[in-house]
Amino acid sequence: MYSEGKSAPVEQKRKVVTAIPGPKSAELIKRRADVVSASLGMAFPVFIERSQGGIIVDVDGNHIIDLGAGIAVVSVGNANPKVVENVKNAVEAFTHTCFMIVPYTGYVEVCEALNRLTPGKFKKKSALFNSGAEALENAVKIARSYTKRPAIVVFEHGYHGRTNLTLAMTAKNMPYKDSFGPFAPEIYRMPMAYPYRWNGDQSNCAAEALEIVTHKIEKEIGAKNVAAIVIEPIQGEGGFVVPPKGFLPGLAKFAKENQILFIADEVQTGFARTGKMFASEDENLEPDLICTAKGIAAGLPLSGVTGRAEIMDSIHVSGLGGTYGGNPLACAAALGAIETIEKENLVTRANKLGTIIESALTEMKRKYSIVGDVRGRGAMQAIELVKPGTTEPNPDAVTAAVKYAQQKGVLILTAGTYGNVIRLLPPLIIGEDLLKEGLAILDEALASIK
Ligand SMILES: *Cc1c(COP(=O)(O)O)cnc(C)c1O
Repeated sequence: MYSEGKSAPVEQKRKVVTAIPGPKSAELIKRRADVVSASLGMAFPVFIERSQGGIIVDVDGNHIIDLGAGIAVVSVGNANPKVVENVKNAVEAFTHTCFMIVPYTGYVEVCEALNRLTPGKFKKKSALFNSGAEALENAVKIARSYTKRPAIVVFEHGYHGRTNLTLAMTAKNMPYKDSFGPFAPEIYRMPMAYPYRWNGDQSNCAAEALEIVTHKIEKEIGAKNVAAIVIEPIQGEGGFVVPPKGFLPGLAKFAKENQILFIADEVQTGFARTGKMFASEDENLEPDLICTAKGIAAGLPLSGVTGRAEIMDSIHVSGLGGTYGGNPLACAAALGAIETIEKENLVTRANKLGTIIESALTEMKRKYSIVGDVRGRGAMQAIELVKPGTTEPNPDAVTAAVKYAQQKGVLILTAGTYGNVIRLLPPLIIGEDLLKEGLAILDEALASIK
């Protein structure tokens, strides 16, 4: 029977003591089904009791290895001590004023941190919101207002959120967009430089894709009508598509030449995840605007838009905002998370974990013909599963592997336009032994697929 106290350290050990789901989770899943809209999915069928480090403890006492970090959110770990301390202090002081009514220091400090940490050797300013989608919405508002142009360029396999505007920007129909249209106009989708699935010369993917994209922008939209090019430096939900070297700098250069803003959606890649504080740094990009969320505040809802001061200041007073944006508890959590990332060198740590993950995944590719591609950077790595001997997507193999890992107490996430990608996003503070154990179970899972 599970009986640890709430504040006791969570033992960093995988333990499967019941079926998954166990009896208590099964009961709660029934209760949930009775009252919660059926529209909400459930990737891992247990109810959580608590979590720390690399382990999620469910209500039946199973200790599950977490290789998802709540979709790259709890990078500093669940219930991270510095985050907990900051939030406790904040909640006892005050819980809300609305920053635009009576301001507070935490908001300003998060903006200072964002301006300092994001790439770009120019004066920057920030604004805070609640979710990734809201950051993207605001970045588009800012870009249109600043440039006085309507068009927004996005990419195949891109994911930017689930509000109406961001659904227009998100590529994948099922499950995100289906039946929810009509969507916002003036969003133009371009081919993505996706080396594994590139139809032309794979080694020339960056240059070929760049040629197609710039040609389409010029001929189909008109460069002077484009407010912004919005792209994830490594695509998240789209399947960890890493654009080949040269593609992003080429886009940024084209944007600059045509007075188009270059906006990096770093909601999933930001805050040390890819082995740099921001993935844009990998090719020395200096985006005009950067959207952040997920890893920023260890799970409290917070997002930001950071960019060139002259752009961020071009909006009329009270043009941006929202009741809860930059909530004081979320800011306190963010300051704790950011302090942890810097003090504990989680950028370096993400690279270390990345090396471990990549070598394990590369070994799996060597052993199993269903592994078509291994890709990612730092602690953001994925495998794409295919039918053996082809590049045909194999979503059934992904489903089977996830299910196998679940039964063994390992949480892995899926992704990809074709649902055939397994993505790994462990908390950056996970123990190396735990990570290796999780990877060994993924290996077993792939071996079990006939
Ligand atoms: C998750 C995500 C979003 C949306 O963030 P929410 O907080 O879910 O609204 C936007 N862009 C990217 C790249 C994401 O991964």
